[in-house]
Amino acid sequence: MTSDRQAPTTPTTPIIPITRSGHAVVLGAGVGGLLAARVLTEHFERVSVLDRDNLADLADLADLAELADVSPAELGARRGVPQAGHLHALMDRGRQILEDLHPGLVAELVDAGAPTSEALVGGRWYLQGRRVGPVPTGLTSVLASRPLLERELRRRTAALPGVRVLARTAVVGLVGAAPGGAVTGVRIRAGDGDGAPTVLAAELVVDASGRNSRTLDWLAAAGHPTPPTSRVTVDLGYASRLYRRRPEHLDGDLSVIIATTPGLRGGGAAAVEGDRWIVTLAGLLGEHPPTDHDGFCAFARRLVAPDIADLIHAATPLGDAVPYRFRESVRRHFEALRRPPDGLVVIGDALCSFNPLYAQGMTVAAQQALVLRDCLRSGLGGGLPGRFYRAVGPVNDVAWDMAASSDLRYPAVTGRRTLRGRVTGSYAARAQRSAHRDPAVARTLMRVVHLTEPPAALLRPALAARVLVPGAVGGRARPAPHGPS
Ligand SMILES: Cc1cc2nc3c(=O)[nH]c(=O)nc-3n(C[C@H](O)[C@H](O)[C@H](O)COP(=O)(O)OP(=O)(O)OC[C@H]3O[C@@H](n4cnc5c(N)ncnc54)[C@H](O)[C@@H]3O)c2cc1C
Repeated sequence: MTSDRQAPTTPTTPIIPITRSGHAVVLGAGVGGLLAARVLTEHFERVSVLDRDNLADLADLADLAELADVSPAELGARRGVPQAGHLHALMDRGRQILEDLHPGLVAELVDAGAPTSEALVGGRWYLQGRRVGPVPTGLTSVLASRPLLERELRRRTAALPGVRVLARTAVVGLVGAAPGGAVTGVRIRAGDGDGAPTVLAAELVVDASGRNSRTLDWLAAAGHPTPPTSRVTVDLGYASRLYRRRPEHLDGDLSVIIATTPGLRGGGAAAVEGDRWIVTLAGLLGEHPPTDHDGFCAFARRLVAPDIADLIHAATPLGDAVPYRFRESVRRHFEALRRPPDGLVVIGDALCSFNPLYAQGMTVAAQQALVLRDCLRSGLGGGLPGRFYRAVGPVNDVAWDMAASSDLRYPAVTGRRTLRGRVTGSYAARAQRSAHRDPAVARTLMRVVHLTEPPAALLRPALAARVLVPGAVGGRARPAPHGPS
């Protein structure tokens, strides 16, 4: 069961089917833009992916695994994706979609050195201060760095018929955005940005330019209403550092995640290509990890479990730690607009940017790409953008509600608190406690977190009984095998 497409698309006007013709433009060659481009190739003869960064920096590297002594900043260095130097976990649903859209991609990542593991067996997961037991979940973790994943995805996308990826090409405005009209292209500035912008015409423009997308400003300037926006302010700080990996580290396990709950601090370490660890420390509500060596180690030492501190004590650092500050999750409700502008679809972080602690962003961007594919199969007419936003709403709801209900349990986090959110948050906390005792709950909880099953899976009567009445079902309760009690 998947959580991707939960709402039927209900077109209001006749639909004009298309066979591959015309031109689509994608703003941004991040994960969201590249996946959108892939589905657009099924409908458009030509697809142009524009990015203002110099993508050649990464594309030219023959083998990222050969880069031994680089810091996360150097490894992921490109202005447009500053988050690339931090741990990027790909949820299993995201892995499935990437493999569906690009068969063989996972094998290529593995060939490039990315380890894989069963989510809870090869990886350690601490929830509420205790380790969840090594239960088989049927989930695969692909432990690639974000730059490697993006490089392989970009290479695959650029090789598709009709696709061109244009680096150092900044989009500086939309064409034809006046209310009642349709967006018919973008204004671009190539190279160093000197000279007048030129126009690139397109039948469809997809904005995947990330959290700092300027589309809302451009639409507002053209006279469009601004869609309502949800925000959850978490004031999260990250610090990440690479380390040389040896097989004996973590007793051979490939990852460890220490969730922030019940405190404000957490962290993660994952074995990535090139025999390296990427170690990310995180703190909510201003409890930000320092980037200097001593401060970084001391922060790790204060986590609820010692695994990360022990790992970085034993491993040799490669380069310095780099910071990232994430103030708030932001969701733009284009579905609430009576007439979203035609010819324009907003996707990825530009549409919905999630607290990175829950590692949902790339997977939700992949789910959104599938929704776009479904909508395009009904053609460009019938108000494609409106159909897309209505269909993608439930996909965004799942991830947003999980993250927001967890974040909003901290009184100092600001955002809209609802009764449903409180009930969800409190049930999820019970399920987490139950996961320490009950392998069936642990398995389903993990599958929900990986977006392979909907949250409702945790409410199935047999499972709900185990969550709500610990030990009541078949005497399966057992103590947590690891971690402080
Ligand atoms: C610190 C951090 C950690 C994260 N960890 C995870 C994780 O563990 N797992 C996970 O799934 N997700 C994670 N995410 C989220 C993930 O990075 C994004 O959700 C995902 O990359 C999809 O983003 P996107 O493609 O929409 O935008 P981005 O990846 O931000 O890409 C936007 C692209 O648009 C380009 N661009 C911007 N403006 C213009 C313009 N005007 N003209 C041309 N190009 C432009 C930029 O150069 C960039 O290449 C994390 C995010 C952060 C901040």
